[in-house]
Amino acid sequence: MERKNIWAFYSAEQISELETFTKNYRDYLDNGKTERECVDMTVNMIEAAGYRELPKLVAEKAVLKPGDKVYNVLMNKLLVMFIIGDDKLSKGMNILGAHIDSPRLDIKQNPLYEEDGIAYLDTHYYGGVKKYQWVAMPLALHGVMIKKDGTCVEIKIGEEADEPVFFISDLLPHLAAEQMEKKADKFIEGEALDIIVGNKPIVIDNSENGKSSETDSATELNSETEPSSAAKKDLIKQGILEILKNTYDVEEEDFISAELEIVPAGRAREAGFDRSLILAYGQDDRVCAFAGLTAMLEAQGLKRTACLILADKEEIGSVGATGMHSRFFENTVAELMDLTGDYSELKLRRVLASSYMLSTDVGAAYDPFHKSSFEKRNTAILSGGVLFKKFTGARGKAGSNDANAEYIAYLRKLLEDHNIRFQTAELGKVDVGGGGTIAYILAAYGMNVIDSGVPVMNMHAPWEATSKADVYEAKRAYSAFLTGLGL
Ligand code: MN
Ligand code: MN
Repeated sequence: MERKNIWAFYSAEQISELETFTKNYRDYLDNGKTERECVDMTVNMIEAAGYRELPKLVAEKAVLKPGDKVYNVLMNKLLVMFIIGDDKLSKGMNILGAHIDSPRLDIKQNPLYEEDGIAYLDTHYYGGVKKYQWVAMPLALHGVMIKKDGTCVEIKIGEEADEPVFFISDLLPHLAAEQMEKKADKFIEGEALDIIVGNKPIVIDNSENGKSSETDSATELNSETEPSSAAKKDLIKQGILEILKNTYDVEEEDFISAELEIVPAGRAREAGFDRSLILAYGQDDRVCAFAGLTAMLEAQGLKRTACLILADKEEIGSVGATGMHSRFFENTVAELMDLTGDYSELKLRRVLASSYMLSTDVGAAYDPFHKSSFEKRNTAILSGGVLFKKFTGARGKAGSNDANAEYIAYLRKLLEDHNIRFQTAELGKVDVGGGGTIAYILAAYGMNVIDSGVPVMNMHAPWEATSKADVYEAKRAYSAFLTGLGL
């Protein structure tokens, strides 16, 4: 099977639709650089489209009917949404499942310190990152700090042109002879990924009841009103704390109950003279999240109930309350069945077992500069269409979902009927590495699941590349999947 570049197949009308769709995708990326931001933005979009929140429907004792749209959110980080189909729920659902967490650097709970005249925030990286890729580039801080009274302080700084950014230092090449000898995973160590947040000492003015101000004259420190030695300690850190107090009304202790993420600063960009590619942070897996969300928003007159999952914690093993291993999805389906007046534990098992799922997650795009890691005939190429992975895993498929051949045959027919261009792929050459998705977790219910997504070049790098054509084709594939009637 030859892999063809699919751009040539599109009509002028399709190209125009593709450009609009991928422009909206770039906006989605820019406004959703954390899982909380993705959930907030998605809730705004779907509420405008008539989706209603499950707890409200439960409180109202609502009775769901075909065409009704429902969503449920857990801890602002995990979202599931449904369109009730014409068929009974017991016939199963068509489920799209993406994840909205991406590799990044998280701020620790006791992060702020000053060392040798520089203030830092200490980080702990999240997910699979090549640590050396994160140094010497502009970084932004996104997240929330929750104060003891429950107030949520939203922080997003480093994205607008007039906002400051942050950065991690690296050694100049002139002095790096020793560093350059190290292996890439030791080149920059995990504890060397702290971000620089300041370098200007606070000015302590004793004449005004010890009030301080963040003016720029460090020489005042040597004046007659020199403060006590204790107050003089960590003046740069103190300056940062004062800024945090004045800007966000938070104290140092509030870092304890915060979720702050360091991400690359800047917007998603078109790439290439021909603008065929997108270079952006967090495309794994917000690309499939957006393609699936758009397919849901465009869906009409569905026979089977449609579902989209936007999961958290995929990058660290789908753990925790908001990861796919949590009972939240199953509980939500049970509530949904209850609202259709047809719930029992046994019926819930049947609904899940008779559902179909696309585990919509990205795959590796073939990279001619790293040929030796790929097996060309079973690799996805950029602009080769939406990709399907029968299995993932590592070392003899360990840890993989392995999609059933009958299900794949069903999907082939469905995709061909809708003129969708797809390619099949494995994650690299046998035994060079591997990876997983949420596919095997849903497959545990006995449902048919296959991985399907968009090829990504330099996946998990601060800036990841996709082809606009593949992003568009994924959306088309997910729309077609939602109309499927089942085997
Ligand atoms: Mn992923
Ligand atoms: Mn990933």
